[in-house]
Amino acid sequence: MLNKNRLKSTFIKLLTIDSPSGKEGNLARYLSSVLKDIGLSVRFDSANRATGGDTGNLIASLPGDNTRSPIMLNAHLDTIESTEGSTPLIKGDIIKSDGNSILGADDKSGIACIVEALRVVIEDDLPHPPIEVVFTVCEENGLLGAKNLDYSVIRAKMGYALDTGSPFAVVVGAPYHNGITVKVFGREAHAGADPSKGINAIKVAADAISKIDTGQIDEETTVNIGIIRGGTATNIVPGFVEVKAEVRSHNEEKLERKTKEIVSEFKKSCGLFSNEIDSKPVTPEVRYEITREYNAFRIDEEKEIVKGLFKAASGFNIQLKARLGGGGSDANIFNEKGITTVLLGTGMKDVHTKSEYINIEDMVICTKLLINTISSSG
Ligand SMILES: [Zn+2]
Repeated sequence: MLNKNRLKSTFIKLLTIDSPSGKEGNLARYLSSVLKDIGLSVRFDSANRATGGDTGNLIASLPGDNTRSPIMLNAHLDTIESTEGSTPLIKGDIIKSDGNSILGADDKSGIACIVEALRVVIEDDLPHPPIEVVFTVCEENGLLGAKNLDYSVIRAKMGYALDTGSPFAVVVGAPYHNGITVKVFGREAHAGADPSKGINAIKVAADAISKIDTGQIDEETTVNIGIIRGGTATNIVPGFVEVKAEVRSHNEEKLERKTKEIVSEFKKSCGLFSNEIDSKPVTPEVRYEITREYNAFRIDEEKEIVKGLFKAASGFNIQLKARLGGGGSDANIFNEKGITTVLLGTGMKDVHTKSEYINIEDMVICTKLLINTISSSG
């Protein structure tokens, strides 16, 4: 039987082990011993060679009914920032950050739900297919763990990534994502003695940015300008600015169109800030780099994996809804690699902020859904 207190204490224990991206080693070692105690065999891949981190991905397996298709259970080990020095506030079922850092429910709640589900499946001797557990590193800094996972040891073609909010929704699609870095080159000059010899790169960038639509562009596309760096001193006309932006869309054509529009606004603004310096016309320049961070996925709701979840949910009266997500996660990479992976919600809220919190009751629902799914899938 699912044990809520055990689930809660597993989760709280995980919160106390610091695991920012690249430094997941302690948490990985702890989980390795937990999973071995439960009865799984555990190995690590060498993703750390690519990530530069202190551990590879943790891959564990539990043999099961070989007539059923193997499944993968996934959560990520890393948190977006260190949680060292903060103590989770526990008020009944609500576990909240103390405000000094994030809580880390993203994604330790996912790990705790998977551990509890495995314990129940084994203790209650529930029928189940072969299970592969993949706890990835470096999800938060570019999905690097999933990108460098040793896929040769994964047999599953169906996966469940516990890495989203509502336990009542299954995420069956996520967008494409382009990262854009634009470098604007103006001309430095002394701001007091020789301002006419300068071209202010900050003004060029500001002009372009003011013309770019950001936020929710349409129902499937978002744009954000997230980082701007430039200038060296107030008495120097800034000669250089770097701007980092992103576009996400469920539609690849819109993604590419928006990406081009952003770059072209910077080019147009350069034309507006030409200056005659020492009797020669000088025009600021842009250089840019576009990186496809990940590709979208969209899983048909008629697929076995989605239907199986709905069936599992109806077993205990949960109204499950399929929806599209707005973010990227390891699931984007797994789907690209041929493992059809949906995202399940653990109840984590206000993630990536210092007010992150979670209700253990939501984790209970997620774990129940997972147990029912495991025992009925394949
Ligand atoms: Zn996450």
